[in-house]
Amino acid sequence: MFLILLTISLTGCKKNEISIPPANQVKSIVDYSNNYDTLYFQNIEYILYNPYKKSGNLELKGSMHNHTNNSAPVDGYGSGDPVWVAKKLRDEGNFDFYTFTDHNFITPDPEIGDIIWMGAAIEDTKNGHHICAYNLPTYKYIDKGENLFDILNYYNSIGAFTSVAHPNWKYTYLKAETANKISKLHFMEVLVPNDTKGHRCLDVLRSNGLITFSLGVDDFHYNEEWENPNRYFNKSWIIAFAEEKEKTSIWKSLLSGSFYVTNGPAIKISFNNGILNIKSNTESTVSYISYTLDGIQDTISINYTFDASYNWSNNLLWVRAEVINSNGIAFTQAIHLVED
Ligand SMILES: [Zn+2]
Ligand SMILES: [Zn+2]
Repeated sequence: MFLILLTISLTGCKKNEISIPPANQVKSIVDYSNNYDTLYFQNIEYILYNPYKKSGNLELKGSMHNHTNNSAPVDGYGSGDPVWVAKKLRDEGNFDFYTFTDHNFITPDPEIGDIIWMGAAIEDTKNGHHICAYNLPTYKYIDKGENLFDILNYYNSIGAFTSVAHPNWKYTYLKAETANKISKLHFMEVLVPNDTKGHRCLDVLRSNGLITFSLGVDDFHYNEEWENPNRYFNKSWIIAFAEEKEKTSIWKSLLSGSFYVTNGPAIKISFNNGILNIKSNTESTVSYISYTLDGIQDTISINYTFDASYNWSNNLLWVRAEVINSNGIAFTQAIHLVED
């Protein structure tokens, strides 16, 4: 069975290589040092990574994990023609940018206009782990086997941006001891339609000093046979603070962490002079989750607020905020101490 599926997908790739334009990989890599803030406590200098230091003025809604009919060999049904899926994201979901992450297949740009295509991507789907790889240089799927680290190393080596998909799902559950061994990862999904607890693993990476950002995704699958065919549509997304509604500018925001994850709440985020400030038009509970240099995780919650602030202190490794209100939940990226 597996061999038959593999043959189908390889044939598909060959056909694509002939008929589609280059993948147009984004080459510019973000220089993290542009986002450093310096704070002083008792004349000691602390350098922090501030993902919101260079935020652009636009707030663009993005959907970075979507399936189409090209996933049918793996999921068994397919989620629609790529043009139909892209138009649904644009017209019903009001998304500004998106890409497809089909199972072990790289679906080309359907070129529909008025929504930004973020480049060739895939969900590398293996037993026990699914890795989304973005910004691929070609449309050719190369199977690097089952090992999580071989797969991550491969995609990182070809200039792709890597993400661990749904680390809390029982079939792809990422153990903390495995997360501990990851040395390079751009993103991790912390919010999917049925799970808001994905920080379990990402916080481990942060505590190890990695700069890895949280993603919220629909993992869009669609099947008219379901009672609610839209149960994986427009349920979790990201808002990018970009300078322009254009692919490279949006990637700059995502790679530097200038975005947040949400399933409803709209928030404003700033970090200035050591104060992480969250504003919302809806009365909210804002929780600040912090982790100290001594390895202690703490949560401070502020209830019934429209405007919450948290002061950085000299024993912190990182802090991030979660916002809960009548619209749902939103997560900021973490501010964290830069380690040499
Ligand atoms: Zn998956
Ligand atoms: Zn998926």
